This record gives sequence, C-alpha cells and structure tokens, in this order.
Amino acid sequence: MAYTLDLSAKPAASAKVNITGLTRDGLIAALKESGVVEERKAKMRAQQIWRWVHHYGFTDFDKMTDIGKDQRGPLAEKFTLARPEVVERQVSKDGTRKWLIRMAPGIEVETVYIPDVGRSGALCVSSQVGCTLNCSFCHTGTQRLVRNLTAAEIVAQVQVARDDLGEWPSPKEDRRLSNIVFMGMGEPLYNLDNVADAIDIISDNEGIAISRRRITVSTSGVVPELDTLGKRTAAMLAISLHATHDELRDVLVPVNKKYPLKDLMAAIRAYPDLSNARRVTFEYVMLKGVNDSPAEARALINLIKGIPAKINLIPFNPWPGTDYQCSDWRTIEAFAAILNKAGYASPIRTPRGRDILAACGQLKSESEKVRASALRKAQVEGLAQVEDETPHNETDAIETELPYGHLASGM
Ligand code: SAH
Ligand code: SF4
Repeated sequence: MAYTLDLSAKPAASAKVNITGLTRDGLIAALKESGVVEERKAKMRAQQIWRWVHHYGFTDFDKMTDIGKDQRGPLAEKFTLARPEVVERQVSKDGTRKWLIRMAPGIEVETVYIPDVGRSGALCVSSQVGCTLNCSFCHTGTQRLVRNLTAAEIVAQVQVARDDLGEWPSPKEDRRLSNIVFMGMGEPLYNLDNVADAIDIISDNEGIAISRRRITVSTSGVVPELDTLGKRTAAMLAISLHATHDELRDVLVPVNKKYPLKDLMAAIRAYPDLSNARRVTFEYVMLKGVNDSPAEARALINLIKGIPAKINLIPFNPWPGTDYQCSDWRTIEAFAAILNKAGYASPIRTPRGRDILAACGQLKSESEKVRASALRKAQVEGLAQVEDETPHNETDAIETELPYGHLASGM
C-alpha cells in the first residue's frame, strides 16, 4: 500500500475560490482577478462582501442586497461561501459542544466549544489533521499527519460554532463564543501561514471580531517560528512545557531534541509585548510519577522566573494503549499549591463535557473504522484496485483510532 504524505496547504483544487479563507487583501485581489468586479470597485465590493460573510455569516450571494443582482450570479460562479459538512454534533450536560466537521473526503476534524472559559466561552480549533510530532502522552501524536488545514478550513470551524450557537450577526456584547484556542489537533506553528491568515480574518473588527488578545496559539515549542508568530499575529502564546529538564522533555515532547529548553526559554522571553496583561500560558500535563513531584514544581518556578506567566495544569487524559496515568488529585493540588505560593496563577483544568468528550475522537474513529472495514472487505473480495484508488488522505486516516485525546480533559 502506498502512503504519501500530503503536506500541501491546499486541499484538492476546486474550481471555485472559497471566500472564507481570504484575508481582506486577498479578497480584493481575488475579486480583481475574477474579472467579475471592476478593478476600481474591488475594494468597495470586498468591504461589502466581507460584512455579509464575516459579520452576518451569510452563505448565499443572493442575500447580499447592496450588490447588484447582475453581479451576484457571476460571483457565485467564481466563488463559494459553502460551509463544510457537520458530520456529528454532540452537546454535553454542562453545555460543552463538539462538532465533527468534514472538510473534504477523509479530512475530518473535531472542534469543541467550552462554555465559561475565557470571558464567556472558548472554541478549541484544529490546525492540522493529525500531527507530525509525536509527544509520547498525546493521542494525536499517534496519528500520522494527513495534511495542514487551509485558512478557510480553520475559519470554517469558527463559523460552524457560530451557526450552532446562533451568534450571527456577530454580537459585540454578551457573546457566548469569546475566545479561540489553537489547542485542537496539530502543531499550529507547522502551519503558520494559514493559522496567521485565519487569525487575521477571525480578529477583524468588521467581522467575527474576536480580539487577538483572546486568541491563544498553543505550541510544543517550534522555536524558529515563535518570533514570527508574535510579530505576524500578536496572538497570545501557550507553550506545552510538560517537563522542566531536557532529559524528560526529550521523551515527552520529542521536538525538544531539536529545540532544547535553553533555546525555547530564550525564544519565549523574546516573544513580543509580554507583560502582566499579556502573559504566556505554560501548559503542564500531570503524569503520575513522571513529572509531578514537588521538586519539579520548584524547578518549574525556577525555569520560568521573570516571564509574565500563568501555568495551566492539565490532568492527563488517558487513551487506550498509553502507559501513562494521570497524577492523583492530591498530587496535582500539592503541585498547584507550590506554584500559587510562588505567585503564579495555576488553574487546574477541570474536566468538562466528560459525557461527550470521554468519547472524544471516537466519532472520528468510528467513521474511519467504517472506511477501514470497507477497504478490508474489498481486499478480501480481491478488489485490489479499491485500495489503489483510495485517496491517500483516507488511507492515512484508516491507520488512526481515537486521535485528539487531549481535549477530553477540557480547557
Ligand atoms: N500541538 C499543540 C497544540 C495542540 S495540543 C501543542 O502541543 O501545544 C493542546 C494541549 O493538550 C497541549 O498542551 C498538549 O500537550 C495537551 N495534551 C495532548 N495530549 C494530552 C492528553 N492525553 N492529556 C492531557 N493533555 C494532553
Ligand atoms: Fe502534536 Fe501537540 Fe499532540 Fe505533541 S501534543 S503530538 S505537538 S498535537
């Protein structure tokens, strides 16, 4: 069976350009290029379309009343506003919502909305399908990368959530969706161009208007990209630290072998505009007997000394086949107490939406199992060409079960 990794930033070429993923400048350029809009009117048209798409959430050119009827048809021929398909939707007793979204055949991602996080509620979005890094405690890490998500596919996750929460036109006050965290599947800094474009779109004040201060990008520590992330996006930074010395971090977060703690900490200290109002979040997964001793809590304080920071302790969320266990609650509390005493806010992520998130990733694996069993059936029946014709993205996906385990622990 031939496996090819598709690392391209774009999905299979579609005849129509998806407006959802275009920045303002990109939209103006695309309108000019399309020939539908006169060059001198492109900026104004872009402004109008932008409002309809990103403020009102429209998916239909025909509703754009300030655009002449004669232009709406040609626009719809060249461009699309279509949402991806929501394959599954689950709502937890505590209000947590989870959507399984099919971006393209074999390209499925989960997006989770968690109420009462951040100002009023946070959306956890994915930046890749799978991940090339293999952190030893992370289930996504067992899934090979299928591909980067496009900017349109990242923004679409926010649109789907807004559709479901009934938040169009974009409310300025009393929002349910107030924060975005890039803590879903994938390493955002390995897809930085698309992540940065998506942040430009999501934060635009005449659209979805979620401020950059409320958008957090979580990274395992891709040191050479940190500066670009800060300068290009002005997003809040979260670092998946998980260990205080290289020997352990090399095992837990293997990208550490390439970018060891010394380099990582230097890059964090240089992250633009850090202050008490713009603090780095250090994520620290609590693994029983591995990284949860009081000595490690003290080492953590030493390591981050001088950095405006908060520490997010994440109870480990186990998945089938893992050797790790979650630290005992008392151990986590003792660890948190040491950090608190040193002046760090160190909230323990309380598990949210357990009733649906306990099955986090299972929906996806179910659909993958169906594809896998169809493939096996075809093989048994000697239809080998089915295997050959299976798009490699799907073939890759078949390998996977239960990705995305980390979200089950909530935010
Ligand atoms: N790739 C990025 C962002 C996605 S992971 C990163 O690593 O930062 C979001 C967070 O969940 C990271 O801190 C990650 O280390 C953590 N995580 C992954 N698997 C987990 C698990 N099984 N239990 C608890 N947290 C986990
Ligand atoms: Fe990838 Fe983040 Fe999981 Fe590591 S923790 S494997 S970087 S998704």
